[in-house]
Amino acid sequence: MDKYIEAIYNTLVERDPDQKVFHQAAYEVLVSLEPAIKKFPRYKENAILERIVEPERIVQFRVPWKDRDGRIQVNRGFRIQYNSAIGPYKGGLRFHPTVNLGILKFLGFEQVFKNSLTGLPMGGAKGGSDFDPKGKTDAEVESFCYSFMSEIYRHLGQFIDVPAGDIGVGAREIGYLYGAFRKIVNTHGTGTFTGKGQSYGGSLIRTEATGYGCVYFVNEMLKTKKTDVKDKTVAISGSGNVAQYAAEKCIQLGAKVITLSDSDGWINDPNGIDEKKLAYILDLKSVARGRIKEYAEKYGVAYHSKGRPWEVECDIALPCATQNELDGKDAKTLVDNGVVAIGEGANMPSTLEAIEVFQEAGVLYGPGKAANAGGVATSGLEMAQNSQRLFWTREEVDSKLHQIMISIHRNAYETAKIFGQPSNYVLGANIAGFLKVADAMIAQGYFS
Ligand code: NAP
Repeated sequence: MDKYIEAIYNTLVERDPDQKVFHQAAYEVLVSLEPAIKKFPRYKENAILERIVEPERIVQFRVPWKDRDGRIQVNRGFRIQYNSAIGPYKGGLRFHPTVNLGILKFLGFEQVFKNSLTGLPMGGAKGGSDFDPKGKTDAEVESFCYSFMSEIYRHLGQFIDVPAGDIGVGAREIGYLYGAFRKIVNTHGTGTFTGKGQSYGGSLIRTEATGYGCVYFVNEMLKTKKTDVKDKTVAISGSGNVAQYAAEKCIQLGAKVITLSDSDGWINDPNGIDEKKLAYILDLKSVARGRIKEYAEKYGVAYHSKGRPWEVECDIALPCATQNELDGKDAKTLVDNGVVAIGEGANMPSTLEAIEVFQEAGVLYGPGKAANAGGVATSGLEMAQNSQRLFWTREEVDSKLHQIMISIHRNAYETAKIFGQPSNYVLGANIAGFLKVADAMIAQGYFS
């Protein structure tokens, strides 16, 4: 690593020594930006790296709520407003017991580059709470969401900060959060939240967008090798929003999906998950709120409470659950089993060692920043529809999402080529996302 960049990395580690996942995300980005920093001295002269690793604002607050027994519980709420150089802060809310400042800083930092890559005017943010919606009643979730919004509302607005969902924040939570926002501010400010239900300002295809977009991206990577998703065998992790719709798009494009997982284990269905079985999963995970194990019991396939889906033979792997769910050993197993492409539906699911293994083996590796940007891109399309007071058709939104994923791929691919590392999508995506934000920061002066 270049000395100047190393000093920036060391400072951020010294400042927040416990934020390991944030260090990991920052390291990956900083290393890959080196050629751009060397080529364009203006970024060093304007201290862009020193500024871009530091969030513009962090809000932390307490969230008291009442459980089913009438007892008061207290969780922590956060919003990291990372960078607003190119547009209002934009990024999801995560409700999961592991949530802390370090995890949200990693997610917010990634979001800055991802949002820039979409080509839409959105800054980067992330937020959430260590509240766990799993096993809670609807009334408990509603109580928590109202309390969370009663604090965070003052930091939101269509031109200020526009949240959406992430792990643990699906249709139910967004409904309660948006309802609370409307009640508190007495404004039907539909542009202040995305991922909304269709009856109150949501966009068609937003639910499907991250998963669909990930598969569109992988298809573009495969096209550079004169092949595509059709007839490929696909291993997917997770069984939440992103995994469900990545699986649906794979099936629509003629691929065979053989695995899904949740935090307890994973299933292997060698005959492939078809549309009917997928409909069962959507109901199981999003309505009945059950476990993936029930799929194995219903269809008589293997269930593993240990290990990860990466031990199966597959052509394509789509990690769609959470960060660091695919390590160096998993990556070696996938490579030994002949994997040709990885598309990250989740944020930073591969460890730095895993990325190295994929790159050394010449596997097409689509990092989350690029491969899962379809979700936030369609949130941008939702904001555009809200501003116009119009609703676009399913076909219109899907076709715009598809075009955006093609253009993100082209941008990352061409940028990697220009900087002398063809097919290095990590370098391509990071530099392409960075340049726009960095130039906007320079144009707006050093306070920005
Ligand atoms: P979700 O609907 O809550 O689903 C998450 C899935 O991952 C569930 O199957 C969950 O299992 C599993 N999971 C969560 N934590 C895990 C852990 N520690 N170990 C193993 N499995 C775990 O969330 P999602 O929206 O699909 O998000 C999944 C990933 O995509 C996240 O990395 C998120 O940041 C990223 N992402 C989401 C969007 C979006 O639009 N939603 C956009 C871009 C990126 P359980 O059911 O057992 O919890």
